[in-house]
Amino acid sequence: MKPYHGAHQADVLVFGAGPAGIAAAVAAARRRQNVFLIELQNVVGGVMSCCPGMMLGSGYPCGTSVGGFFEEFVGRLYDHDPPLAERRACSLENFGDEVVYDHEHALSVLYDMLTEAGVEVLANHLPCHVEMAGDEIVHVDVATTRGVDRFSAGAYVDCTGNGDIAAAAGVPSQMGDDDGRMMGATLTFFMVGVDWDRAFPQGHDPYFTEYAQRGIAAGRLPRTMPQIYLLKGFRDGTVFFNTVTVTGVDGTDPRSVASGTRVARRYVMRLARFCREEMPGFERSHVADIGPSIGVRETRRLEGLYRLTRADIAAATKFEDGVVACDSPLDEVFRDDSSSIYSHEAALPTGEYYTIPFRALVPRKIRNLLFAGRARSVDLQAYASGRGMPQCMVMGQSAGVGAAMANENRYTVQQIDRARVVRELIRDGVNGIGEEHL
Ligand SMILES: Cc1cc2nc3c(=O)[nH]c(=O)nc-3n(C[C@H](O)[C@H](O)[C@H](O)COP(=O)(O)OP(=O)(O)OC[C@H]3O[C@@H](n4cnc5c(N)ncnc54)[C@H](O)[C@@H]3O)c2cc1C
Repeated sequence: MKPYHGAHQADVLVFGAGPAGIAAAVAAARRRQNVFLIELQNVVGGVMSCCPGMMLGSGYPCGTSVGGFFEEFVGRLYDHDPPLAERRACSLENFGDEVVYDHEHALSVLYDMLTEAGVEVLANHLPCHVEMAGDEIVHVDVATTRGVDRFSAGAYVDCTGNGDIAAAAGVPSQMGDDDGRMMGATLTFFMVGVDWDRAFPQGHDPYFTEYAQRGIAAGRLPRTMPQIYLLKGFRDGTVFFNTVTVTGVDGTDPRSVASGTRVARRYVMRLARFCREEMPGFERSHVADIGPSIGVRETRRLEGLYRLTRADIAAATKFEDGVVACDSPLDEVFRDDSSSIYSHEAALPTGEYYTIPFRALVPRKIRNLLFAGRARSVDLQAYASGRGMPQCMVMGQSAGVGAAMANENRYTVQQIDRARVVRELIRDGVNGIGEEHL
């Protein structure tokens, strides 16, 4: 293997092909930027491929679509004949409507959108060094099976979820609560061949608590599973389990993720067997589509020009540079095994929403880096709201617009004309920002 393989120059380098990174890459490429999208896994989608079938939540604050990339993406799924997605009420309180979809088709639509925009997708590429000169990234070295490639660009966008590139570039960050505990990570899976009518009787408890308690009492389920969150999938007879949660996983440490996945996989098999043997409707079902790895909800919160707070959310703040609307609850998942309870308390009064400011995606010092998605600049409580995939998509879209603008005008990211970003997003169909209200 040659130690050094080649050098590449792009206008915009986006890291991480999850909901935020895909939208960022497409938005920048549509503005005539030469864009590489660097992804360490062998597939795009982020949580959409790590937790196949994960519903798109929070896309309809106050009943209206957040618009932009999200609307374009789900629009393609809705418009397909037959439709490949469906909007429906979330079975949990305070979440509003969510989108269930055929996950294989959905990933293909994302690949199509990237191809049509002219984005070069570099899967199986692992960034291994970020070279800095003062407050600027000079290049990023990326390892593949062929050696190390060197990538440089006018603007860099970190959509890795963990904020890996920003952290390596020196952007300060925080992780977890005061004790460093992060929300539990979940290994999702499907059961297929379920009789929906019997499995989901009218008015059923979305957490199937009674069955969970029974399973624990009989020693068939672990004590850490007092709730079983499962819901109808997109296809008839499929049931999606957003439920096998492991605590103590550090999502920035691949070993910790691998060991959490091993533990969770054992629980998946126990739970599947329990469902088949004890829960009505599951008698003839079997397991399918276990995620390749546990899905990590929480790691770094990067420090941006502005840090969105819980108080901003409670006050339904609509920032001048707000780029996406949100009304999602404080979606908290247990951080240790003392309670193992999920909670989703309303974050703001009914009928209200807030916006996430562009400044929460801009580092204070680094001049040619933006970030978007899960790692945005927020306080711990605000982190629990606003990390749904629709919001991540539109945050990514705004970072892509901003990166293109920085290149076109030779701005640092701090100098980007934020009012213009908002105008361009509105032109591109984003709802509930600027003067526009939902
Ligand atoms: C278990 C679970 C349940 C959830 N439930 C819901 C739900 O019901 N509805 C909803 O809308 N949202 C849900 N979410 C939240 C949502 O999925 C995430 O917040 C969202 O996917 C974050 O998007 P992202 O693009 O920032 O990051 P991700 O989706 O995590 O994508 C990041 C991408 O970057 C790649 N990557 C990581 N590090 C690097 C690196 N150093 N270099 C290159 N690439 C890298 C990853 O492989 C991945 O492809 C859930 C998340 C989890 C984990």
